[in-house]
Amino acid sequence: MAKIVDNLEQIQSHIERAKQKSDGKQLVNIIAVTKEVSVDRTKEALQSGLIHLGENRPEGLQLKLESIDEQQAQWHYIGSLQTRKVKQVINHIHYLHSLDRLSLAQEIEKRAKHVVKCFVQANVSGEQSKHGLAKEEVISFIKQLKDYKKIEVVGLMTMAPNTDDENVIRRVFRDLKNLQQEVVSLQLQYAPCTELSMGMSNDYEIAVEEGATFVRIGTALVG
Ligand SMILES: *Cc1c(COP(=O)(O)O)cnc(C)c1O
Repeated sequence: MAKIVDNLEQIQSHIERAKQKSDGKQLVNIIAVTKEVSVDRTKEALQSGLIHLGENRPEGLQLKLESIDEQQAQWHYIGSLQTRKVKQVINHIHYLHSLDRLSLAQEIEKRAKHVVKCFVQANVSGEQSKHGLAKEEVISFIKQLKDYKKIEVVGLMTMAPNTDDENVIRRVFRDLKNLQQEVVSLQLQYAPCTELSMGMSNDYEIAVEEGATFVRIGTALVG
């Protein structure tokens, strides 16, 4: 297994290169997705200077929380979240990347003790297997979140389709960015929507070229 510091160094240089091709000189945050690795490997990620950690299941998050000091990490919940699991998760995370329905927002409102930074998940590619709102639904959904005091819409999130066609992937990321700009232009206090969570091990460079501010990397970083 390669050392995480070495993987990180390589990924950072790829990100720098990709940033040169994007118009904005955005700050890109790397989320180390630890869902498939051990507690020790997760600790190695923290020792390598990573702060943002991502899990996609309540059990995985809980296991890591038992042995990692909560002050040390910023936890991102990146998987789809069942309403009945909200109470297990919501007060341990800083960011939720999968807000996609009002019933989930209602449960967060009920259970959260702090304001949760949320990404609204969009299924831009329209693939049936993917979670998230259709592109056309995102704006009206966000408008409906106005009275939820525990929810701050910090950005939009998407997953690119499973394909080797770079143009298809790029189009999905570009569409998400356009949608994000549309939300920004609404100037909603509870939805600054300045962030874009997009890009994984296989496509983070394209995502950064298209404006990603949070990339979620598992395999290439800690795998
Ligand atoms: C697993 C996962 C990732 C990381 O995937 P890799 O291909 O291992 O980098 C990113 N985002 C989500 C939502 C995931 O479930």
